[in-house]
Amino acid sequence: MTRRTSARVQGTVQGVGFRPYVYRLAREEGLAGYVLNDERGVLVDVEGAAEAVERFVARLAAEAPPLAAIESVAWTALPPTGAHEFRILESPGGGEPAAPVAADAATCADCLAELFDAADRRFRYPFVNCTNCGPRFTIVRGVPYDRPMTTMAGFAMCERCRAEYEDPADRRFHAQPNACPDCGPTVRLGAAAGDHALRLAAAALDDGAIVAVKGLGGYHLACRADDEAAVARLRARKHREDRPFAVMAPDLDAARTLVALGEAEAELLTGRDRPIVLVARRADAPVAAAVAPRSAELGVMLPYSPLHHLLAADAATTLVMTSGNVSDEPIAYRDDDARERLTGIADHVLAHDRPIRTRTDDSVVRSVAGRRMMLRRSRGHVPGALALPVAARHLLACGAELKSTFCLAKGTRAWPGHHIGDLRNEETLRSFAVGVAHFERLFAVAPEVVAHDLHPDYLSTTYALARQDVEHVAVQHHHAHLAAVLAEHGERGPAIGAIYDGMGYGVDGMVWGGELLAGGLHGFERAGHLWPVRMPGGDRAVRQPWRMACAWLVEVQGAAPAPLPGIEPRTWHAVAELARTGLAAPLTTSMGRLFDAVAALCGVRTAVSYEGQAAVELEAVSDRTDRGGYPLDVAGGVLDARGTIAAVALQVAAGVGPSVIGGRFHRTIARATAQACAEAAGARGLDTVVLSGGVWQNRLLLELTVPLLQRAGLRVLVPERLPPNDGAISFGQAAVAAARS
Ligand code: ZN
Ligand code: ZN
Ligand code: FE
Repeated sequence: MTRRTSARVQGTVQGVGFRPYVYRLAREEGLAGYVLNDERGVLVDVEGAAEAVERFVARLAAEAPPLAAIESVAWTALPPTGAHEFRILESPGGGEPAAPVAADAATCADCLAELFDAADRRFRYPFVNCTNCGPRFTIVRGVPYDRPMTTMAGFAMCERCRAEYEDPADRRFHAQPNACPDCGPTVRLGAAAGDHALRLAAAALDDGAIVAVKGLGGYHLACRADDEAAVARLRARKHREDRPFAVMAPDLDAARTLVALGEAEAELLTGRDRPIVLVARRADAPVAAAVAPRSAELGVMLPYSPLHHLLAADAATTLVMTSGNVSDEPIAYRDDDARERLTGIADHVLAHDRPIRTRTDDSVVRSVAGRRMMLRRSRGHVPGALALPVAARHLLACGAELKSTFCLAKGTRAWPGHHIGDLRNEETLRSFAVGVAHFERLFAVAPEVVAHDLHPDYLSTTYALARQDVEHVAVQHHHAHLAAVLAEHGERGPAIGAIYDGMGYGVDGMVWGGELLAGGLHGFERAGHLWPVRMPGGDRAVRQPWRMACAWLVEVQGAAPAPLPGIEPRTWHAVAELARTGLAAPLTTSMGRLFDAVAALCGVRTAVSYEGQAAVELEAVSDRTDRGGYPLDVAGGVLDARGTIAAVALQVAAGVGPSVIGGRFHRTIARATAQACAEAAGARGLDTVVLSGGVWQNRLLLELTVPLLQRAGLRVLVPERLPPNDGAISFGQAAVAAARS
């Protein structure tokens, strides 16, 4: 006689497809019992032969489906109740939803096989999906995550789809977006529908046309990447002067012809999140010059929706896939909006009738020293939760202003939202507010604490202060950068942070951006900073790096320096006057602006079309083998770059090129940073250094600095799950607010 036993397993699981998986596993092991979701997560009671129960418990986490991220499992033995079947129970309700919505996931291998199987009923059906793949966050309207609460609500499942959906043994059991050609969404191009529309789109692309393609989180603008005329036309129509376009390669082999693909990068490319991966481009990459002018890298991704797979297979070429918008507007995602805004840019629009609930941009990553660096965290990652090292009350953090995100939190969970973008655009600001409300409902967070930047004029601050009956917590910008990295690594500090970025509001009201902070989640002290200089014309200096060159020269030489080539002398001298007098020229310690100044000085770029462009191009031309450097005194935590600028100016005058100057400049900053961090850490008995802020997106700088710090015996933490840039500010604010309240 076999001994009967019973076990209760409780766990928290993010993602979907877990209950049907438990059902199948229990049936395989011949166990009775039930599974349900309650407010704390998943609850499973099983009973049957003792060995089978043991096997079940062992297999449960080990064999879990790809989209179910198991956070914890615990089990206890129970007396058997005599049950003899296994059931999926409805959730008791009333409680708070625990893990309601997963991130969108790339088409799985099983669905892909069906897509290209002429005998399958979903052959060439651009909306094939299953429990293991497909749209999630982008179609969710509310909770519980169920078909009526998605944008698939308007499509009634046909009998065959319904049967799959209701069969616990089927791959499509409770796959909310389940559909087929008989009952699901349809793709359209003008008057053409279905497969005809797809083939027309591919033919038009082949022909050099620009096609707007509705994807998972919004519209892309697509054209052949190797067609000079098509790419130039797209660039002109989009008014996107220099920003690189991402491309979609049909497969990994095609990607290898574009970029120097290492193992780490190949892994990033094929991940379920299918991000845009920035990789060093090959000199012989078959892409038009206008795809990514003056960039050492190409942003490459692989097809991630069935529609992309079909387009890629039919067009059989690498496509430019850039967000469907004009210049700095947010990406179009509603059909009426796309028609209005994209018709002037695209020759054709390939649309479909599955609505997108939340605009979600492609995520962007790169591999640095074998580790993933997140540059934009959005599709494929949102709304995944990150753990907070300290428990929070219900809170909302409103982030910064440019690469804006928000973040909700309660307990030890935080939900950083999707990339929203520049809040100074009216539509973006609206989607910020809509996004916050959406997340509050999805995760049942009713904010009692609202965190925001110290900057009084950020629109995110205005939004935060307009929220009534809450406790407001102001968090200094660079402190938030530091806290974000500590928190994502599960730490509270204290540590030294070398936080370098474009600009953030300092506690003294000054424009900070080259900061050495000593502190943790609770608070910080300013342990040092870059030598302050004037920013002539304020924000205009961001678009015109030559103004920073001028200001640094004035700082170094005092007298009016000679104008840089290409700058009108009268304007130059007027700006030098601003720098000297401080009129309309706030002081800044910004490291980003120092990079701008050097880029302008050595002739890389005097004006830019986006912030950070000059630094990106300086990095691209920099000689990575040069061992030289320039003087940069570190005294009392102050990084005095006046000597650096003087030396650079001398070399420029002597005819030394930007490649050598760039390489030596990067090395100079790396050395000074390591020295300053080691001193600051030593003085306080700390052993950990955090490197964050947008400047650290610079791969060369990071790769030079990290080993120097390690050689000094310091432990280095860098951003991995969130970006070094302001996309991480909201999460950092959440961590600080949680620690303080
Ligand atoms: Zn699938
Ligand atoms: Zn169907
Ligand atoms: Fe920043």
